[in-house]
Amino acid sequence: MISVEEALKIVLANQHETTVSEVPLLSSVGRILAENIYADRDFPPFNRVAMDGLAFCFNEVDLQKIVLENIQFAGEAQKTLQDTSKGIEVMTGAILPLGCDTVLRYEDFNIQQDGEKKFASISIPSEEIKKGQNVHLQGSDRKAKEVLLQKGIKISPAEIAVMATVGKSIVKVQSTPKIALISTGDELVDIEETPLAYQIRTSNAYMLAAALQQIGVEATTFHLIDEEKVLYQKLKEIIHSYDILLLSGGVSAGKKDFVPAILTDLGLEKLFHKVAQKPGKPMWFGKTKAGKIIFALPGNPVSTFLCFCKYVLPTLKAEIKHEEVILDRDIIFKPDLTYFVPVKTYFEAGKMMAKPFLGSGSADFANLTDCDGFVELPAEKQVFKAGEVFGFVRFR
Ligand code: AMP
Ligand code: MG
Repeated sequence: MISVEEALKIVLANQHETTVSEVPLLSSVGRILAENIYADRDFPPFNRVAMDGLAFCFNEVDLQKIVLENIQFAGEAQKTLQDTSKGIEVMTGAILPLGCDTVLRYEDFNIQQDGEKKFASISIPSEEIKKGQNVHLQGSDRKAKEVLLQKGIKISPAEIAVMATVGKSIVKVQSTPKIALISTGDELVDIEETPLAYQIRTSNAYMLAAALQQIGVEATTFHLIDEEKVLYQKLKEIIHSYDILLLSGGVSAGKKDFVPAILTDLGLEKLFHKVAQKPGKPMWFGKTKAGKIIFALPGNPVSTFLCFCKYVLPTLKAEIKHEEVILDRDIIFKPDLTYFVPVKTYFEAGKMMAKPFLGSGSADFANLTDCDGFVELPAEKQVFKAGEVFGFVRFR
């Protein structure tokens, strides 16, 4: 049986190879960028006024009485300062008028009227005025043709803004894999049905579909009964049409847990079966020759969810966030397994604490609604003390 660390390493080393597709800008949020984005012009593209106020030429202006000869609004073509001892009123976002180099804020002067003439009298000490102030110089953020966004990053609203500003209306992103969610089990009925005394409604497929939906990935759901011929035939069809299969149930030691044997019969390469962890020990992972990836997760909902969060999500999100929490009470766990305990985190004196919910084990998924992740207690230890720091697998 392999360790959690080895299992994650194998999963990350055997990911589905994505292709590239083109999507409209807004649809690219949350996706992985598949091209470099370049500055189409300087950033900012012109010497930009950064404050509403008054622009002038620092070395030439008559600071005693700055006569205002014009107004430069945002969105207007550049005006020219005719008399270098004078000034021009300017608005934030406007191009700096030709002949000016410095901007004073409205807060720092008063405008007075002298007949037809308008002039500014400065209300701050003149030493406080610095040449070039309140001007955002052309190209000072980025130069034209510079790479603004690197291929491979995850697109957030900030990246959307950058792409909008360089006029990228269509964006190349890595295509999302086609995912099949397959629950197995003769005891399961769908949610519209009323289960008989010995049946339950399926929840795993909905849980996983919801988790995928949150990261913008769509999946098709299937339900298969615990019947070897049916499993063989249906899985063969599904593998043919999908890139990643997420199965739940049928991977443990039960007499009708046919999934691992069927996956082998179908010619898949088993990369591991069983991980030294609780919950989720029976997890199976493998791939086809064509590079399709199969995660067969145990059916108990907490196990399914833990395995999904720990192994499947990092491959789909192309990132692993390493978080840590401080255990707020002692836990003793003797088996040589990594113990994932559902926890509720909270802050105390600026530190993230974790309150464990030991509950009644891997079937107790109602417990998860009180929690926001799993604390990861390593296999090598048996006593986990309040105040010790451990890894955290967040799901909320
Ligand atoms: P299995 O891994 O097939 O042995 O299932 C372990 C436990 O998880 C059993 O109690 C199943 O009834 C339950 N289970 C399996 N699949 C699901 C599912 N899709 N939704 C809810 N519970 C499930
Ligand atoms: Mg089952």
